Amino acid sequence: MKRAVTVLLFAAAAASMQLEAQNAPPAWDATFRSLTSASEIGASMRRLSARPHHVGSAYGRDNAEWMAARFKEWGWDVAIERYEVLFPTPRERVVELVAPASFKALLREPTVSVDPTSGQADEQLPAYNAYSIDGDVTAPLVYVNYGRPVDYEELERRGISVKGAIAIARYGASWRGIKPKVAAEHGAVGCLIYSDPADDGYGLDDVFPQGPMRNRDGVQRGSVFDMPTHPGDPLTPFTPSLPGAKRLPVSAAPTLTKIPVLPISYGDAQPLLAALAGPIAPAAWRGGLPITYHLGPGPARVHLKAAFNWDIKPLYNVVARLTGSAFPDEWIVRGNHHDAWVNGAQDPVSGMAPELEEARVLGELVRRGWRPKRTIVYTAWDGEEPGLLGSTEWVEDHADELRRKAVVYINSDGNGRGSLGAGGSHPLEGFINGVARDVEDPDAGVSVWKRWQSTIVATGTAEVRNEARSRSDLRIAALGSGSDYSPFLQHLGTATLNLGFGGLDEDGIYHSIYDDFYHFTKFLDTDFRYGRALAQTVGTAVIRLADADLLPFDFTNLADTVQVYFKDLQQLLKTTQDNIRERNRQIEDGVFGAIVDPRRPMRAPQPEAVPPAINFAPLENAVDGLVRAAGRYKKALASAGPRLAAHPEVVRAVNARLIQSERQMTDPGGLPRRPWYTHLLYAPGYYTGYSVKTLPGVREAIEQKHYDEAESEVVRIARALDRESALIIAAAGDLEKIR
Ligand SMILES: [Zn+2]
Repeated sequence: MKRAVTVLLFAAAAASMQLEAQNAPPAWDATFRSLTSASEIGASMRRLSARPHHVGSAYGRDNAEWMAARFKEWGWDVAIERYEVLFPTPRERVVELVAPASFKALLREPTVSVDPTSGQADEQLPAYNAYSIDGDVTAPLVYVNYGRPVDYEELERRGISVKGAIAIARYGASWRGIKPKVAAEHGAVGCLIYSDPADDGYGLDDVFPQGPMRNRDGVQRGSVFDMPTHPGDPLTPFTPSLPGAKRLPVSAAPTLTKIPVLPISYGDAQPLLAALAGPIAPAAWRGGLPITYHLGPGPARVHLKAAFNWDIKPLYNVVARLTGSAFPDEWIVRGNHHDAWVNGAQDPVSGMAPELEEARVLGELVRRGWRPKRTIVYTAWDGEEPGLLGSTEWVEDHADELRRKAVVYINSDGNGRGSLGAGGSHPLEGFINGVARDVEDPDAGVSVWKRWQSTIVATGTAEVRNEARSRSDLRIAALGSGSDYSPFLQHLGTATLNLGFGGLDEDGIYHSIYDDFYHFTKFLDTDFRYGRALAQTVGTAVIRLADADLLPFDFTNLADTVQVYFKDLQQLLKTTQDNIRERNRQIEDGVFGAIVDPRRPMRAPQPEAVPPAINFAPLENAVDGLVRAAGRYKKALASAGPRLAAHPEVVRAVNARLIQSERQMTDPGGLPRRPWYTHLLYAPGYYTGYSVKTLPGVREAIEQKHYDEAESEVVRIARALDRESALIIAAAGDLEKIR
């Protein structure tokens, strides 16, 4: 009985679908999803990760040419765009303990016999931190935990200074370039960064090759330049590093470190840390090594020597196009980087290979008769690892054209298994929720959206759970930095999405020689099913954006999110004021003297000025205005909806405005002390690097005690939101003309 009803309902549904199908255009995005292939993704990964392919390497160029040939074969117009960038590589590296005992660090990741590419020593970059300056120092060692400003406050209370010392920090909790920056600000003469086994080694799982985690000799390479100041070639800020470009001298590049830095394994770090004396490290600072963690300084003395070849190297961006049939000057841009530190199967190829699969299938759809209305631009960036070089130089090179034509930029950077992670511009939140509803999770038998929602419900607080169940769209994250979306979003003001799956796997091969095809196919997305899910998700988004008559921007989500940011900002000020008041009171009341432990002496903190009240009224009014404008656009759209098709000139006019909408929230003057970052809603934190600061001008004025800047930054953000509201109202006005 039940079954019969189901069959009848299904038959009715099928009949009505057939009717619709006669009128509606073919659902190209559904065809796209069905044509994607996990094994194609695996084949691309095997090819791209077969040899080391960092900036300036033979195989990096070979990969770029191979990808360009594939795009061509799939029917795309393709070019390789070359830039010339500063890319230092190591000439000499020494880390040795000279007192109280002697020990010379290995600084080398050995070949693992079961791993066929781990022995490609001739082509592997040695373990180093790019854009460390040259240096040769011998000094006492101090352990600084993650090396954030807050860690130095703890040290100071224990009477420990890094002045004249070498700071040893562990990886994690911030962009790695923050560690030498903060160490140098506190007077350190050198910096070592090591991978603690508690963070990505045996503290989490078995180590490679038995398991996925970092083994005792595994080292995380990586850039240490000052990305929060600006990404891209350190010698050509704001301008493209084309051949013959005017370059700063290396000594004047603002983003290089001030002190020499090298990364080391925990095998190399253990003897150094074990030789420290001085106070015991606070509980939260202790890692997973079988030693007692002391802070120093000394008696461990370390000799650190780093010297580099300061070469200018070519980089090769692959840029492929399918020209739009109706709106060729409106571009949907998609990218992932292709360069790696070594073989890079996970980072970046697990994102690059799905992007190639998207390009293959989009080409196949064209062969079957699809004509995208907008131009689709697929990019494979070189030089992301040293500092978003390829994407930043390309954006700086084509800035004027991109400001006019780029509608959306979609980024990925590697891919894992599990739930969709989405970040970006909030007007695209509703759109990407819709895409996620139509892609199937390869493991759970539910939609990607349902898995995304379930992950939030299973892990969130009561408030977050409620919202995930009741709000029509799941929230996407605001973007900080650390991948190629940064120049598009934060320099140009292009609406942006960053997408990838993850959450199920821990791995400890990030930026090591063991991030390779063997490791990936043994421990990560072994049969590329989530690689396929990424291609399906991004491809669906690209097709819908390319073919939408009216661009799917929804400003109510933006207005709602800006309200949240504003509330957070007010809360930050209040919490900061309360905390400083309370601490000042404790100092005055003699609390710190009364709880002293003479065996573990701690200095009382210094009293501090309480942050002044800030006049938020301009921002409050601007947020209200944005809420009203967004509501008016939504209403105008709903009532114009059915008649839009008859008014293509109105649709064009509205689209022209929507393309400029993200840009309204930028200010050409940029953020205080870092003018390259022009977006006033989000930026990487000056002292965190990867992670985002929302309303950064005001937030960092409070956090960094530039209180005098706070109110002028409030006004600047308010003006940006007013510009956005004016644009939204103008777009609503266009729609309201349709009667
Ligand atoms: Zn990457």
